[in-house]
Amino acid sequence: GSTLTIKDLHVSIEGKEILKGVNLEVKGGEIHALMGPNGTGKSTLSSAIMGHPKYKVTSGTITFDGEDVLEMEVDERARVGLFLAMQYPSEINGVTNADFLRSAINSRREEGEEISLMKFIRQMDKKMELLEMDEDMAQRYLNEGFSGGEKKRNEILQLMMIEPKIAILDEIDSGLDIDALKVVSKGINEMRSEEFGCLIITHYQRLLNYISPDYVHVMMQGRVVKSGGPELAQRLEAEGYDWIKQELGIED
Ligand code: ADP
Ligand code: MG
Ligand code: MG
Repeated sequence: GSTLTIKDLHVSIEGKEILKGVNLEVKGGEIHALMGPNGTGKSTLSSAIMGHPKYKVTSGTITFDGEDVLEMEVDERARVGLFLAMQYPSEINGVTNADFLRSAINSRREEGEEISLMKFIRQMDKKMELLEMDEDMAQRYLNEGFSGGEKKRNEILQLMMIEPKIAILDEIDSGLDIDALKVVSKGINEMRSEEFGCLIITHYQRLLNYISPDYVHVMMQGRVVKSGGPELAQRLEAEGYDWIKQELGIED
């Protein structure tokens, strides 16, 4: 499997420091959950990994199998096997979901190694069935008129089809009803393998009732302040974040 390594990462937005030294490592075969109160920098981390121009890395490193991610163009990050849901466009005029997916898969492959149309359709059908998606979703224009739940399922379909080595999923669970949450979790669980690592960013513990993470991290004030196993998420669910603030002497 691959390894994404983040070391002492500092990130500023418009001159204001948001991330103040984040350390995190995600390897193939591992599922990590990153939790924390609102506004503590979780999405900033995800945007910085993705290479969003607004998020300036002022110091620290991000590497993927030892390669400097910060030196890579955004689409190169996808090519080496990083997946960030946000990296993919919300809508492209006149491009169907199926066309988009097929070109996303092929852009990660060498010339001559492209997925055949038959194989692509077979895989997509199978995965859409697992995600309980309507068949017509394949031929609909990408994200156009998709409901919130359909968009999230579609993000998981993208994940399952593209088969990245490491995925960062930011708030994949937000706004989902319980049935959609189960389906999205089923897709992520289906991906579990030594070849796949995942960082699930979530504000809520409820997703973790369906996806059991190997590691749980808490971010506060721009740093990962605590790491543990699944029991950490359960304690957060029961007690909130105050006990950590007290433990660390953090003031709001
Ligand atoms: P989280 O995902 O943990 O809720 P964010 O990373 O979204 O937190 O936000 C962290 C801090 O950075 C907040 O104070 C937020 O207001 C600020 N921030 C995030 N994105 C932007 C942006 N695009 N422009 C200005 N400030 C931002
Ligand atoms: Mg530092
Ligand atoms: Mg966020």
